[in-house]
Amino acid sequence: MNDAHHDQRAALVLFSGGQDSTTCLAWALERFAHVETIAFDYRQRHRIELDQRLVVLAEIRRRFPRWADRLGLDHFIDMGVLGQISDTSLTRDMAFEMKKDGLPNSFVPGRNLLFFTFAAAVAWRRNIANMVGGMCETDFSGYPDCRDDTIKALEVALNLGMGRSFTLHTPLMWLDKSATWALARELGDDALVETILDHTHTCYMSKRGPRHGWGHGCGICPACALRKRGYEAWQRATAG
Ligand code: ZN
Repeated sequence: MNDAHHDQRAALVLFSGGQDSTTCLAWALERFAHVETIAFDYRQRHRIELDQRLVVLAEIRRRFPRWADRLGLDHFIDMGVLGQISDTSLTRDMAFEMKKDGLPNSFVPGRNLLFFTFAAAVAWRRNIANMVGGMCETDFSGYPDCRDDTIKALEVALNLGMGRSFTLHTPLMWLDKSATWALARELGDDALVETILDHTHTCYMSKRGPRHGWGHGCGICPACALRKRGYEAWQRATAG
């Protein structure tokens, strides 16, 4: 195994432009000397997130000088083939619902496995040792590729298959949405909370709409409902 040029001080963050991945980006910027970002176009219906992520990156550079120097290249990967083979409510025009197997039809099979595998190929080329993703087992839809065991197994597979020693970090794995807001405040004070509220995109329906207390979005889809619930729980916790 040749890790001679494998920079342990560098990280590559899966950055979609949502609340979770923005919090992960701040987490990485606090810990690593050099941070790059990566996103995937898999023909998701909420493609607006791909525009918003550039706004979030610009805001982070503008509002957080201590992080701006660490923030490096942004990688954008066309993964349209995943949209072609996925018959899901994230990649087709269909209503969100639970399927008989207990999974929501927004589950895109293989998505996080492919994201980390492609990210590892980029990290390999860029000599980056750490990767960061916003997967969370605590407060989510039961997606099996968000499980801690899945990510740990993938880390082993990637290191065997690429002959490196990558570390996959998932700082949100055991946090609920309320705790994720608390982490954002801890990392970047109110400025980061405001950046997330004003500019990140979560809504599956691609709606920005008016700015609610918890941010922009339709307010009804599963992603908005989860974000709204988490924000309100955090507000109650900080008030109490
Ligand atoms: Zn929504």
